[in-house]
Amino acid sequence: MPRLRSQNVTAAQWSPNGGSIGQADLTQPGANVFGANVFSGVVQRQRLPKAVYQELQETLAEGKALEPALADAVASAMKEWALEKGATHFTHWFQPLTGMTAEKHDSFYAPTGDGSAIADFSGKELIQGEPDASSFPTGGIRATFEARGYTAWDPTSPAFILENPNGALLCIPTAFASWTGEALDNKIPLLRSMDALSRSAVRALSLLGDTEASKVFTTVGPEQEYFLIDEQYYFERPDLVTTGRTLFGAQPPKGHELDDHYFGSIPERVLACMLDAERELAKLGVPIKTRHNEVAPAQYEVAPIFENSNVGSDHQQLVMQILQNVARRYGLVCLLHEKPFAGVNGSGKHNNWSMGTDTGMNLLEPGDTPHENLQFLFFCAAVIQAVDNHQQLLRASVANAGQDHRLGANEAPPAIISIFLGAELEKIFDAIESGSGDGATPQSYLRLGASVLPALPMHGGDRNRTSPFAFTGNKFEFRALGSSMSLALPNTVLNTIVAQSIDELADRLDQATGGGAPLEDAIVGVVKEAYSAHKRIIFDGDNYSEDWHAEAESRGLANLRQTPDALPWLIEPATVEVFSKYDVLSERELESRYEVYLEQYTSTINIEGETAASIARTMLLPAAIKWLAQLEGTGGGAGVTRLKEELSGLVDAFVEAIFALEAANREHPHAEDVLEGARYVQSAVIDAMNGVREVADKLEKVVPDDLWPLPKYSEVLFIK
Ligand code: ADP
Ligand code: MG
Repeated sequence: MPRLRSQNVTAAQWSPNGGSIGQADLTQPGANVFGANVFSGVVQRQRLPKAVYQELQETLAEGKALEPALADAVASAMKEWALEKGATHFTHWFQPLTGMTAEKHDSFYAPTGDGSAIADFSGKELIQGEPDASSFPTGGIRATFEARGYTAWDPTSPAFILENPNGALLCIPTAFASWTGEALDNKIPLLRSMDALSRSAVRALSLLGDTEASKVFTTVGPEQEYFLIDEQYYFERPDLVTTGRTLFGAQPPKGHELDDHYFGSIPERVLACMLDAERELAKLGVPIKTRHNEVAPAQYEVAPIFENSNVGSDHQQLVMQILQNVARRYGLVCLLHEKPFAGVNGSGKHNNWSMGTDTGMNLLEPGDTPHENLQFLFFCAAVIQAVDNHQQLLRASVANAGQDHRLGANEAPPAIISIFLGAELEKIFDAIESGSGDGATPQSYLRLGASVLPALPMHGGDRNRTSPFAFTGNKFEFRALGSSMSLALPNTVLNTIVAQSIDELADRLDQATGGGAPLEDAIVGVVKEAYSAHKRIIFDGDNYSEDWHAEAESRGLANLRQTPDALPWLIEPATVEVFSKYDVLSERELESRYEVYLEQYTSTINIEGETAASIARTMLLPAAIKWLAQLEGTGGGAGVTRLKEELSGLVDAFVEAIFALEAANREHPHAEDVLEGARYVQSAVIDAMNGVREVADKLEKVVPDDLWPLPKYSEVLFIK
């Protein structure tokens, strides 16, 4: 198939002035547009009557329900602001279990009956919406005959305006629940988990002698990896269009073995796209800090500055959406799949996580005084204990079909969860545990009350890029998330398990001090005990090595390789216990997620199986047969005969493999048990797909280029 070998995109199309969006600020690249489309605290203060603004702040601080009159006043100000910004519609913006965001637009304008219309938006419409819940995944929580679900305004995440070339939309972040009050979304559990952690951490802080902090926020700073490819190639590949990844494709002669892409200079068109996306995100109040090339060709990364987990998670959804939208303005497509190209590094998402007080203190920041250091060690030990106790659940929180191609494939952390502390910090914990210092760890560490920890460098020794969960100076970096994922579940899990662990450590501290131990000794004792019991989770070596996999097993750490191995941990007794205790997810809510995620896994692989079979039979096989026919028509000598034999052998094998895949797709059991369905596709369909791909990738190398119907990796990845 003749294909474009060079871009038909002109600079005019991708310069800020040439784009189709006509907003004035876009034509001024340097203009400060940060937060321009956010109904932020500042805007609220300017626009709300003073008394209303104060009442709203108090209500938010206390987490109380909004009075109807207050809601009306806020709605009116929000409407005026949105109309001035050109919005014609509003939507409750929510996050169903699809992992994406959902919106249902309502017009602000209502007909008056005399042929005109007035803009209308009441407090009731602000606070609550009633989308039909029956089309969203609920995992059996809500049968279709009781389809009612409702969305409820989350005033802690600011409303914002999404621009479109032909209008603008006011988006109101909301939670999504069933009529019976069960969470049908990712936001509700995240908010509940933040509350749980706050309660536990505030209690612990008061035992540690800090009575000033009255709230603790968890924070998240994500780093998003993604691919940008030319849209021409995207649309020529039904596998990319339908499944988000290539199901076929021989390895190109050049991959990333030259290491020439990472941190390389960013191609002009790509940079223009990034700048545009960043400007759009800035308007939405998303603070992008860094951008660079990633390891694979055509792979990039963008990282916003951290925010509280709820807002950070909402903003992360916007980052994914804006990247995808803006890419199209430049003739590019943004791929967020975890493994778009076999044999080429996939994309993940690093989740930097910490806890901060309303008094401005980062609880994972080693401090300058003995007291601050003890506090740091206490919270750090709590994280170590939590991650060890719930390693399988953490693994389950990042499981999806795309991740199965990536985790453990020597480009991303293994499926084994472990913690990297860094040499200095590990030495301190070891000294506390053993009660004895050596030359390098002076005795003074052990009497922490009397000394100050050596200043820990912000990046605790060398960086270990292979660790799934690394301490990086003042936060932990959970590195096993997939690029397409919502941040909500992994952070919900982290917050909840750490809340539990903080409480357990606080209980012990309380007992020890109640028994008369001096506070400092008691803290050291609690830290020592937790570290001793959980240090098997600490590993500072190469997580990609085979040796580690063997050692992890001997340490009793779990290696849940694939999604169907991991997801059952969502409903294990230990999970149900901690989630119920902290009112984050009930057993029924957990079961619903388990079902939804397993069904998503199964459906994803079913779709891949069908797509692979169709491409193989209707695109690739005809190309191979056409070439075979052409060869048959050639007289030729011994050489041509060899080619014919080789090709005809491959065609036979290909037909065989296609039939096997079609059978695997057909024979899917109609299992009641979702796990059984998932196990079936995991073995039968994936194996059959691999069988088809193996032959197809060989054919790609022998069928003439002009007959081969799919753009090749060398084109898709290298033409920028
Ligand atoms: P590095 O030099 O390792 O990139 P940074 O301090 O720039 O370190 O942070 C890297 C990532 O960690 C950024 O995405 C940032 O937003 C995030 N981050 C920094 N501090 C925190 C924190 N307290 N909580 C959560 N994320 C954080
Ligand atoms: Mg990182």
